[in-house]
Amino acid sequence: MMRFREAGKVQHFGPQPTALATYRENVREIVKAMDLPVIPHDPEEAFAVRRAWQALLVSRGLLGVNWPREYGGQGLTPAYQTVAMEEVVRIGAPTPASVVNLYVVGPTLLAWGTPEQKARFVPRLLTGEEIWCQGFSEPNAGSDLASLQTRAIEDGDDYIVNGQKIWTSQAQYADFCALLVRTDPSAAKHKGLSYLIMDMRLPGIEVRPIRQISGGTGFNEVFLTDVRIPRSSMIGPPNEGWKVIVRSLSSERSTIIAQRAAEARRAFDVTTAALRRHLRATGQNLPPELAGRIGHAAMQLAVLQAQQAALSSRLERDQATGGVESIDKLVLTEAEQEVFSLALDMLGPARQLAGHELYGFDADLCIHDYFYSRSRSISAGTTQIQRNIVAERVLGLPRS
Ligand SMILES: Cc1cc2nc3c(=O)[nH]c(=O)nc-3n(C[C@H](O)[C@H](O)[C@H](O)COP(=O)(O)OP(=O)(O)OC[C@H]3O[C@@H](n4cnc5c(N)ncnc54)[C@H](O)[C@@H]3O)c2cc1C
Repeated sequence: MMRFREAGKVQHFGPQPTALATYRENVREIVKAMDLPVIPHDPEEAFAVRRAWQALLVSRGLLGVNWPREYGGQGLTPAYQTVAMEEVVRIGAPTPASVVNLYVVGPTLLAWGTPEQKARFVPRLLTGEEIWCQGFSEPNAGSDLASLQTRAIEDGDDYIVNGQKIWTSQAQYADFCALLVRTDPSAAKHKGLSYLIMDMRLPGIEVRPIRQISGGTGFNEVFLTDVRIPRSSMIGPPNEGWKVIVRSLSSERSTIIAQRAAEARRAFDVTTAALRRHLRATGQNLPPELAGRIGHAAMQLAVLQAQQAALSSRLERDQATGGVESIDKLVLTEAEQEVFSLALDMLGPARQLAGHELYGFDADLCIHDYFYSRSRSISAGTTQIQRNIVAERVLGLPRS
């Protein structure tokens, strides 16, 4: 909750701290009684376990906390969802299967979907019963997303869609795709775009996984040839897809920050606890260079926490847009890259040994998290683009 003085009175936003503290205690009790799943190394098996975990979190009221009750949520505010997420991450729980379901498509459907679309899709995407992917980026349209070329042409009650998407996370598991297409090529580039729900079982869709540096195949190329999508599958009005996705990208950047911040803090705690154990066991002192880096990471996490408190307050007031969340994303990305590279450096040469454990942490997991953290400055808008947004929209500087 945020307070500030205005014309001699104190204003309150969001729930009272006591209500949130009581809620946190309740969540701690719920979480304590839950058995944490072990995530297998095999990606398919890991996905299945995370999917079951997502459903379990929903059944315990810990996901969709700020979504309407009629669509499977708890009807509370984002501050409660943040608390629930912090407590779940704090015990070392894995990430639910579909971040796209929870932080991108769910909020977009709730904001723009018809009552029928919401009733049909939201409860099932919340539990992970149905998995979604996000088909936005193309080989020549990433940062400059509005230049995308995938074309949808009206034909009776359908659109016929042709084109190619890339970096589509989890498309290989997805039941549906939130697809951004060009419906009016004569309009200016940010206009003439539309947002369609594409059933991934439709004929004409080919998914090709992309092998990553981490060894996994988290994302894919998706080729679309004469895919027939009913016109009733549109989210928002025709040719207004840009407005719809501004909402999507904004929720992607802002809501997910709370979860990733909690994960970075947990990784830092695990890393420093392991180091403490190691130094005690060997009777060594903390090397000055390491002490400096730990101090720097701790400082970044403290800044992140302050940013997150401000973010939480903005979310309570539904003020997550306007470019400020780009600052949050920059602070978050730098903090998590520092934390995960610190952990990797602490492993030293032991990181060459697959399955090795040193200082009490798992080398494979540590390496995976380090590699994955590199992608954070690219996904959901690159660091350079976030800096442009801060310069132009937040600070009002002229475009270069
Ligand atoms: C882990 C991960 C998951 C992803 N999942 C999805 C997904 O599910 N669905 C989806 O649609 N996309 C997804 N993406 C794609 C992501 O949105 C794009 O990678 C991102 O938008 C950048 O686009 P690009 O890769 O084409 O790079 P480009 O836009 O080609 O950029 C290349 C470089 O040029 C810089 N640059 C570009 N324009 C400017 C500018 N105007 N000023 C300064 N610098 C600039 C960029 O910062 C970058 O360093 C994912 C990406 C990652 C890493």
